This record gives sequence, structure tokens and C-alpha cells, in this order.
Amino acid sequence: MTEHPGCGPRRLSGWGRTAPSTAYVREVRDPADIVAAVRGADRRGVLARGLGRSYGDAAQNAGGLVLDMTTLAQVHHVDAATGLVEVDAGVSLDTLMRVLLPFGLWVPVLPGTRQVSVGGAVAADVHGKNHHVAGSFGSHVRSLELVTADGTLHRVDPEHPLFWATVGGMGLTGVIVRATIACRRVESAFLLVDTERAGDLEDLMARLSADDAAYPYSVSWFDSIATGRRLGRAVITRGRNALLEELPPALAARPLDMGARRRATLPAVFPPGLVNRASGRIFNELWFRAAPRLRRGEVQDVTRFFHPLDVVGSWNHVYGPRGLCQYQFVVPFGAEDALREAVGLIASSGHVSCLNVLKRFGPGNAGLLSFPTPGWTLAVDLPVRPGLDRLFAALDALVLEAGGRLYLAKDSRASAGTVARMYPRLEEFRAARARVDPAGVFVSDLARRLSLTDAPIL
Ligand SMILES: Cc1cc2nc3c(=O)[nH]c(=O)nc-3n(C[C@H](O)[C@H](O)[C@H](O)COP(=O)(O)OP(=O)(O)OC[C@H]3O[C@@H](n4cnc5c(N)ncnc54)[C@H](O)[C@@H]3O)c2cc1C
Repeated sequence: MTEHPGCGPRRLSGWGRTAPSTAYVREVRDPADIVAAVRGADRRGVLARGLGRSYGDAAQNAGGLVLDMTTLAQVHHVDAATGLVEVDAGVSLDTLMRVLLPFGLWVPVLPGTRQVSVGGAVAADVHGKNHHVAGSFGSHVRSLELVTADGTLHRVDPEHPLFWATVGGMGLTGVIVRATIACRRVESAFLLVDTERAGDLEDLMARLSADDAAYPYSVSWFDSIATGRRLGRAVITRGRNALLEELPPALAARPLDMGARRRATLPAVFPPGLVNRASGRIFNELWFRAAPRLRRGEVQDVTRFFHPLDVVGSWNHVYGPRGLCQYQFVVPFGAEDALREAVGLIASSGHVSCLNVLKRFGPGNAGLLSFPTPGWTLAVDLPVRPGLDRLFAALDALVLEAGGRLYLAKDSRASAGTVARMYPRLEEFRAARARVDPAGVFVSDLARRLSLTDAPIL
């Protein structure tokens, strides 16, 4: 490893803690730090890192330089009238929400955790429970400031070819310094939520297909262990921002207060195997039974509806030192048989997942490597255990056959060949990238593993 003055080597991993690697990490205080780092890049290259919430190796650069963007975190401008907000890439969505809500503004796309940076949200083109009506994060970005491989700063908007290579481009086109995001107006930070149970996978798919359009936010948790008649039984939660007049008096007095719950943090002391078939079965059973059969119009706060896991920091430690893999795919509408088979494979695999999501995506955007495409997306969080590779290989084959794809921000183990077949615009991405970064300054462990760039693998 070439030394980088002023910054020390650090072991970095993704949220799944599966494939750590060591890089020199430099905290970015000013855009000039990025320019200097890029101009001084050696052959192991440079990569921006946000809050490290991608599951696999996307925010790692073994033996090279990693720029910690979380120290560049100012909200520069909020235009309450137009909803346009200009922020540094290191600002978390949590901070952004807290800053915007007093203006009656709402972050347009919220993934399953608020502990995600704006840079990471753009680079992975993250999606939320409203994808079916609002699309993914990049669709709400009006411009980006980006330091490219020659060390120059560019402002790019959706008309610029580099924009859609950067949205979903996993940090490989440059370092995002700032973003201007179009936010929408809300009357309250609270949600009116309908909850219902579905008895099996067919019932679940039918309910989501029939009613999703009526809700801006929709998601389902499904039981990933039940088989037979109960295969794919689920709890559906859907909602929308409550209007002021819909809130009970106590909340109407503080409609834009999102609450600031304390975060407990779990230490990394959990043994391997704590999340196992027995504990997973109990969890899945209890979670299903605890949900109401049908409840309409419940008022929930942001954390309860969108981010219940954020209440516990480092909950990934529960999976023990071997870590976890998230497997998230999308298959097109019409490929329901593949979805049925995937749910059946997971349920009968002997592997266990507690966080199991099924939702419908709407139309995708122009991001060359953007994940969401119209169809069914399923995600499961699986603790690493022997034999998991066999389950993943079987699922990969199903997803490929169905014309679907895996989500790069969640992946830690797919092969380059598999991913190339899933992303038909990968060549276009490589070419766009090669034009702005011919020497391969920007690189990550993910990019090396999946050959996402044309640059020589060093
Ligand atoms: C509990 C949990 C729930 C999640 N739920 C969802 C969900 O519902 N929907 C969804 O889409 N995703 C979800 N994710 C994944 C997460 O939203 C993405 O991985 C996101 O990219 C993480 O942002 P980050 O700031 O942590 O980025 P990191 O993990 O640090 O980096 C991710 C990628 O972004 C690049 N990057 C980061 N900052 C910059 C920058 N300034 N310039 C250029 N590139 C940059 C990195 O190089 C890397 O390739 C979830 C993750 C967790 C842990």
C-alpha cells in the first residue's frame, strides 16, 4: 500500500460486515481536499464513502484512498417556496429531514434507513416505499457538483450525459460534492397508515397489485420461513402524509416535529449463529401474529413507519462476526412464477431471514446502472452460514432467467458475468466512465469484483 500523508490505514466494511478491506481514509473538509486527493491519486485509486450503509464492498477501496465525505456536511440553501435544497454530499438524510421539516418540506425518497448520505443516495440511486409513484432518488436531483478524474469541478444537470452515469454509478464517475434536490411540501411529518395481513403469496400479490396506486407509500413484510399454504403470508403497510386536519390535537400542535428518539447502539459482542432457524422461525411467527388483520388510518411517526431499525444503531452486530448478506432483486411484472419460486426456495432453504420485503416498483429512470425497473422487488437479510452460496446461485439463475437484476448497493458476492447479463447498459456505463476517467482513478472493491469499469485491474 502506498502511504497517503495525513491519513491512516483503516479497515472498512459494508453494513453486512462480510468482506472488509484496508484503505487509507481521508476526512474531507473542503472540496479542495477532494481535488488534491484526486490529483495525487496513485494506481490503487480513490473512492468516496458516505455512511457505509451499502451492504457489501461498494464503499471500500482495498489498498487505495477512501474519502470520508461525512465531514463535508452543510445544508447550503433551502428555498421554501420552490422546494429546492442545496446540500453537501456528506449530509445524512436524517439531518436533511430535521432541517427541512420546519419549512414544511419533505425528502422525496427515503430508503429503509435515514443514516444514508446524500452522496450515497445519489450514487446508489436509492429507492423508498414510494418508488411506484415517485421513482428513485436521482429522479429528484436537479443538479450535481462533481469532481472528476482530472481534478476539476463540474456542475451537471439531467441534460448532461455524466449526470445519468453518476446517478446509480456507485461513485465510479467522480466525487459528488453537492446536490440540488427538489423536495415536496407536506402539512405534517406524520403518516396515516393502513395495515393488513395477507394469508399467502397469491393474496399478497393480488392486494399489492389492486391497491398500491391508491397509496404514495407501500411496502410489505413477508414471512420467509412459512411454507405450504402459508408460503409468503405477509403484513402490508401503506400510507400517506397526514393533513393537519387529520391529526389528533396533541400532534396538530406540533405537526412538523419528527421526534428525536435516542439511538441505542449494540456492541460487536454477539456470537455467530444467534439468528438461526429456531430464533428466525419464532421471529417470523410473532411478527406476523402481532400485526392487525386490518387497521385503517393509524397515525404513525416517521421513525415507526419508515425507519424502525434506526432506533438501534449497529443492529447488524446481532448477526455475529460472520455478518450478513442482503439479497435484493427485481423481476419484471409478468415474471410472477419466478417470484413464487424464489420465495419457495428461500423458505425451504434452511437459511433464515427476518427482514423480508416485497414491493412493486414503478418506472425506472435514465440512470445507466440504476437498479429499479418496473416489477416486483424482494429483499431478504441472511446471516452468513455454510451453503448460502448454493441458495444465492439458485436465486441468481431464477432472476437472470426472468430478466431481472440484483441491487449493487446490497450485493457482496455476485460474479461479474452474472451482473453483466443483468445490466444491459453496463457497456454504455463503462464507455461513459472511460471518457471522463481513462486512467481509472475512481475504483472500489465492488468495481474490481464486478469489472464495472474498463480500467486495468491493479
Ligand atoms: C438498514 C438499511 C436499509 C436500507 N434500505 C434501503 C432501501 O430501502 N432502499 C435503497 O435503495 N437502499 C437501501 N439501503 C442501502 C443504502 O440506502 C445504500 O447503500 C446507500 O448508498 C447508502 O448510503 P451511504 O451514505 O451509507 O453510502 P456508502 O455505503 O458509504 O456508499 C455507497 C456508494 O455510494 C458511493 N458514494 C458515497 N458518497 C459518495 C459521494 N459523495 N460521491 C460519489 N459517490 C459516493 C460510494 O462510493 C459507494 O459506491 C439500506 C441500507 C441499510 C443498512
